[in-house]
Amino acid sequence: MTKAIGLLSGGLDSILATRLLQDQGIEILAICFKTSFFGFQKAQRAAIRLKVSLRVIDISEEHLQLVQNPRYGYGRNMNPCIDCHILMLKRAGYLLERENFEFIFTGEVLGQRPMSQNKQVLQLVARNSGCEGLILRPLSAKLLPETRAEKEGKVDRGRLLDIQGRSRKSQFELAKRYGIDDFPAPAGGCLLTDPAFSRRLRDLFAHQKEVQIRDIELLQVGRHFRLDESAKVVIGRRKEENERLLELADEGDVIIKVTDYPGPIALIPRGGPKMCIGTAASLCVRYSDGPNNIPVLVLLEKDGIEERLESPACSQEICQALII
Ligand code: SF4
Repeated sequence: MTKAIGLLSGGLDSILATRLLQDQGIEILAICFKTSFFGFQKAQRAAIRLKVSLRVIDISEEHLQLVQNPRYGYGRNMNPCIDCHILMLKRAGYLLERENFEFIFTGEVLGQRPMSQNKQVLQLVARNSGCEGLILRPLSAKLLPETRAEKEGKVDRGRLLDIQGRSRKSQFELAKRYGIDDFPAPAGGCLLTDPAFSRRLRDLFAHQKEVQIRDIELLQVGRHFRLDESAKVVIGRRKEENERLLELADEGDVIIKVTDYPGPIALIPRGGPKMCIGTAASLCVRYSDGPNNIPVLVLLEKDGIEERLESPACSQEICQALII
């Protein structure tokens, strides 16, 4: 039996690509990837529904380096889709060789994303991932050069499709034929395509050379304020975010909270100069239930050492000026 590896994001296109090959009796191992920017829950749901085994591959560290310095640049936001595809296909290529699969397939549709799914880019990705001739795109296969699996008769090209462009009409018709009616919205799920998240990420890269996974996790919590070139503060917006900030807190961080009124947790990753800590305290007061017109008591903690100070709330103008 022919064995193939499918990149399953869990979106409609990758589900349909899998179904088309299942119809040809191909044995499929689905793979998906985990990083700090996207998870694998959608893929898990799709794999259950498609009755295929799913392997989750953690590429967090390697992917973060690539996001910081993409060879082929970013898309509309901080999404380095070309580099990201190369990395994913490289990983699929290792697996193909190690476990004797015959080809790799994806749910990509020619021309659906003009920047990353045109013919030249699909070829470039195949070449740079070391998978030339091995990547089948069942939804657009008839518009693309024949892959090795098609030439060798392992896949019947005649039963593959010729979908192209941004319209999703053909995919919706196909989904209907397969009885698939609940699928996630396209392009959701990757934080790198989110403008607000991308703004924070740009700020992080501009101010910090060594970026860790924890820095990325912090970007997903609370409000962020830039205090100076080296310091920022993150302030929780609700109970779960305050708890998450405490979970993410590490050695050298400063944690701030208002002592006599309900209020948020503020966290300064890796600490900062005294003036920045003062500003962070006043931001923390601003978002607490304490009065805005008189100083209130604030508790600072760094590496188990506590200090108390009185801080007024900062003005709305300062909040606006510092928010990232
Ligand atoms: S949208 Fe995100 S996950 Fe998808 S290819 Fe681009 S960077 Fe990678």
